Amino acid sequence: MAVLELRDVRKTYPGEPPVESVRGVDLVVEAGDMLAISGASGSGKSTLLNLMATLDRPTHGSVVIDGMAVEGLSDRQLAGVRAHRVGVVFQQFFLLEALDALDNVAGGLLYRGVPAGRRRAAAEEALRRVGLGHRLHHRVTKLSGGERQRVAIARAVVGRPAIVFADEPTGNLDSSNSGEIMELLGELNAGGTTMVIITHEPAVAEACRRRVVMRDGRLIH
Ligand code: ADP
Ligand code: MG
Repeated sequence: MAVLELRDVRKTYPGEPPVESVRGVDLVVEAGDMLAISGASGSGKSTLLNLMATLDRPTHGSVVIDGMAVEGLSDRQLAGVRAHRVGVVFQQFFLLEALDALDNVAGGLLYRGVPAGRRRAAAEEALRRVGLGHRLHHRVTKLSGGERQRVAIARAVVGRPAIVFADEPTGNLDSSNSGEIMELLGELNAGGTTMVIITHEPAVAEACRRRVVMRDGRLIH
């Protein structure tokens, strides 16, 4: 079953001259896939991720995620799709520094209408899944880089989304933390989470079952 389908997807940013960041991408991601998208800096990887994760709309082509066609949805419906079906992990973690690990992860359920008590119970379970059961009440500023990325991953998976996207998830980590994060993403995938990982690190791409390369806005293989 396809969780994500892109057909001739393009993104052009307006300007003088306009920038064609994504130039006609076709891609199918099946349930249970673990796909790496690699490519040089500036090749359009983050732009493509934003389109796949429905954080942005294409200027041309179609994106269907978990059976929902993005072009047919209002902004409000699209926000609902994001809240229920998509998890995203970024290189810079994007955690709320004033909060502890538990509340950061519980925040991943804020837009789903889950009551606070159940949000926190689910957050605790997700933090245990990523190996941070002993850090629930640590403020994220007290955690190491590898631990912060685990919190961000817990936040992405807490609602059991259909697909998780990660944009350079190991980009701010040393090689040992990087290896541990890839191991964790591999475990989550083995547990059934469909995953798309953007990276320019060969070791990270090699840890994925399926690999494609982006160059100048296109997938070349
Ligand atoms: P990558 O993630 O592979 O480094 P990006 O998707 O970030 O590549 O960028 C691809 C191209 O699109 C680059 O030339 C970049 O400058 C341009 N770009 C990205 N975001 C924007 C934007 N919001 N406005 C204009 N140009 C952009
Ligand atoms: Mg990028």
